[in-house]
Amino acid sequence: MTPLFQDEFAGGPPAKRSLQYVLGKREKGSPVVGTYCTYAPIELVRAMGGVPAMLCAFAQGPIEAAETVLPRNLCALIKSSYGFIKTDTCPFFTVSEAVIAETTCDGKKKMFELIADKRPLHVMDLPQLPDEPGAVANWSAMVVRLKSFLEKTFSRSITDQAVEQAIADTNKRNALVRRFLAYNARRPAVLSWSEIYDVTWLAASASGADLETMMEGVCARLDERIKSGAVIGDAKSPRVLITGCPVGGDATKAFKTIEAAGGVIVAIDNCTGSKLYAEDIDAKSGDPMAALARRYLKIPCSCMTPNTGRLTELDRMIAEFKPDIVVDVVLQACHGYNIESVKVEEHVKKNHGLPFLKIETDYSSADVEQIRTRVEAALEGTRKK
Ligand code: SF4
Ligand code: SF4
Repeated sequence: MTPLFQDEFAGGPPAKRSLQYVLGKREKGSPVVGTYCTYAPIELVRAMGGVPAMLCAFAQGPIEAAETVLPRNLCALIKSSYGFIKTDTCPFFTVSEAVIAETTCDGKKKMFELIADKRPLHVMDLPQLPDEPGAVANWSAMVVRLKSFLEKTFSRSITDQAVEQAIADTNKRNALVRRFLAYNARRPAVLSWSEIYDVTWLAASASGADLETMMEGVCARLDERIKSGAVIGDAKSPRVLITGCPVGGDATKAFKTIEAAGGVIVAIDNCTGSKLYAEDIDAKSGDPMAALARRYLKIPCSCMTPNTGRLTELDRMIAEFKPDIVVDVVLQACHGYNIESVKVEEHVKKNHGLPFLKIETDYSSADVEQIRTRVEAALEGTRKK
């Protein structure tokens, strides 16, 4: 099957390619700003000529070092991210000259206090009752304060015009990524989970002409793939929609297990999947800072209550990708996604008549066999005769 990447982004895991991109931008004079979350309004970084670098980590390696400081019963994403910093082995953190953080879950919020002396770090106070009057105004104030922080830290000014340009670039990026993801509405599917993951990961860093060139090339090769009749799985392969916590690196063991059991992951709704690209920013409001605040506050993370946006987005994705099962991948000790799983299961079963499987896991390989047994049993029940 023709590989989708045949350009400068080809080669190695997406984190490595993303790092190459960030380093290339840095060499050309762009300040690098680290981010930990989808709520970070990266358009402000781009508007000052900077490049964002994702600091969330997905490797088991540094967790042992992290556990000498952090509690063991903390989610693997926080431990891994902190462990890389503690052992001074995160190349993204090394090149980041400042860090944007948000008050999402308690673990992340408190971890930020432990790294606050390592880089200029700006914490945004995220309203967690997004539908309450005043939530957008409060978040708008935080977006404006972030702008001041970036301007002061980097001695650059961020004009409304530059923010508007960055918003236009984001909307273009979103349209390109959504066009790519939509290919998998086909049955049989034409994209593997790793191809979805590569694109959603790389598009979080790349922007403008770089991203457009990459996406045009990827879609052209995908069209060739379709013309040649190449598919992923077959028409009877169980189609899987993934929801839940961000998943990458060692946690992709869940995806690999689904693939090995004959399932085809057709869509991924989480923060390392389509969540960032699902909705555009109002480009014609005349107030780009408020437009940023409105869009970012709509991100359906489990730190919000209620988090009805997640169910609405699931409805949309189920209608588009027609999965045979929804699999909720939840990191151990992520209380928000773990508790919310109850509502997601009820919604998926009651409103869509679909089977549901929750996989609670971490970054170790200790539970691979147990996941395999549960995935095989769940997929067997969905297999088309
Ligand atoms: S799951 Fe929530 S806290 Fe984690 S990156 Fe996404 S929006 Fe941020
Ligand atoms: S996976 Fe859950 S606990 Fe971990 S950082 Fe994200 S929201 Fe927080």
